[in-house]
Amino acid sequence: MISFYNTLSGRMEEFVPLEKGRVRLYTCGPTVYDYAHIGNYRSFLFSDILRRHLRRSGFELLHVMNITDVDDKTIRNAAAAGQTLTEYTDRFIEAFFEDSRKLRLEKPEKVARATEHIPDMVQAIRQLGEKGFTYSSEGSVYFRIANFPQYGKLSKIDISGMRPGARMDRDEYEKADVRDFVLWKAPKPGEPSWETELGPGRPGWHIECSVMANKYLGESFDIHAGGADLIFPHHENEIAQSEALSGKTFVRYWLHCEHLLVDGQKMSKSTGNYFTLRDLLQQGHTAESIRYLLASVPYRKQLNFTVGGLRQAAQSIERLKNFQFRLSHTSFPEGANAEIAAKTTAFPDLLRKAMDDDLNTAQAMGVLFELVRAANTAIDRGEFRSENTQPALDCLSHWDEIFEVLPKQTGDHPAQSFATAGQESAQASAGDDGMGPAEIEAKLQERTAARRQRNFALADRIRDELSAAGILIEDTKDGMRWKRK
Ligand code: AMP
Ligand code: ZN
Repeated sequence: MISFYNTLSGRMEEFVPLEKGRVRLYTCGPTVYDYAHIGNYRSFLFSDILRRHLRRSGFELLHVMNITDVDDKTIRNAAAAGQTLTEYTDRFIEAFFEDSRKLRLEKPEKVARATEHIPDMVQAIRQLGEKGFTYSSEGSVYFRIANFPQYGKLSKIDISGMRPGARMDRDEYEKADVRDFVLWKAPKPGEPSWETELGPGRPGWHIECSVMANKYLGESFDIHAGGADLIFPHHENEIAQSEALSGKTFVRYWLHCEHLLVDGQKMSKSTGNYFTLRDLLQQGHTAESIRYLLASVPYRKQLNFTVGGLRQAAQSIERLKNFQFRLSHTSFPEGANAEIAAKTTAFPDLLRKAMDDDLNTAQAMGVLFELVRAANTAIDRGEFRSENTQPALDCLSHWDEIFEVLPKQTGDHPAQSFATAGQESAQASAGDDGMGPAEIEAKLQERTAARRQRNFALADRIRDELSAAGILIEDTKDGMRWKRK
């Protein structure tokens, strides 16, 4: 039984999806105004681990992640860089995909860019108006909180003292500033705007997520996840907009990841106390050790980032790699050690129980290290046996299906990873050309093998075949990537 702590109810709850065997999940993606820092990646890694555990538990997934490519911050920075909004955000979307690949984050089934959904947002705002939840002022449209009595149910904010008609135009604000929030913003000189039936302007940040979630996941879905700083106002406003529109419960389980801290303070751009993935890789740290460190503390606990912690994470990975190497390269006497056999048999259940308990990653790591310790001791004492080898290796790879920090044995291109900017979803169903992602991946593996054998004629032929099917391959230092032309 999987249990999650639901921010909405304030307690642990058994997880049961609306549809049997299928989970619909929405996570708030990056605001592409700069490189994401590793605090942001803590929340994206949390969604990645959530995805992996749900899938390993037998659920089919439909995971949607948005990209906020129009908001106050993207507009401000694009203007400062003298670029159009699209030129500016394209670059940071590409950087986000590249970092995500390095951190071995799986790509959600659907990645949705806000600017590609403006007509859907306009329609939603119009419908909110028809239902009496909006009013206009000076070319902007606002959500009238007073007409949605459940406002505050997620963040537990009290709106009784709110001044009627007080408005908020900024995308981000504090609880002290709870007011009617903006759905559609009147254009300001020099800012990008869209000509629509609401008049010229651009969407507020909050309506973006409500609309994209509704479009791809329906009016009610299972899980909505994001960082704890999004509870108010972003997720509170998402609930207000979505439930005002549909009259139904928007989301059943709200999961929030606590912050990554530096010296006890939230890592953030505005404080300046942040590290990007690029900074840390340049300093010689590995993406795996960052992944390990970020996963080492359960998502609902704050985690203090230190370089020492990162070094310890690297050592832990080394220990696992050494263990893997020792198992694969030692010939042990025949037979089985019963104590180790009992441990490897019990392992999958212990791992599952840890993860079922609100994704207790610290315990899941503990379970593995307990096995490694016992096995290493048995090896040192000459008590490990050949029949224990494969089950122990299987435990490692089983564990690594979630944690993804060990070297992969096959292929040199990441499966199911983030592809290049503009590509909707590497895992979406087959395109018009009929070639689906699985087939493309198989061809890429064939091409990798051909190149390894220096059979460049075959490698080129595969490239041409893919090209004829509308698939472009790019060779990068991180392996091969593909996208549809
Ligand atoms: P943004 O790109 O600002 O929209 O943020 C992307 C995600 O990172 C959101 O889910 C934020 O809640 C999350 N986030 C921002 N700072 C941190 C932090 N220091 N620790 C964990 N998550 C964070
Ligand atoms: Zn969002």
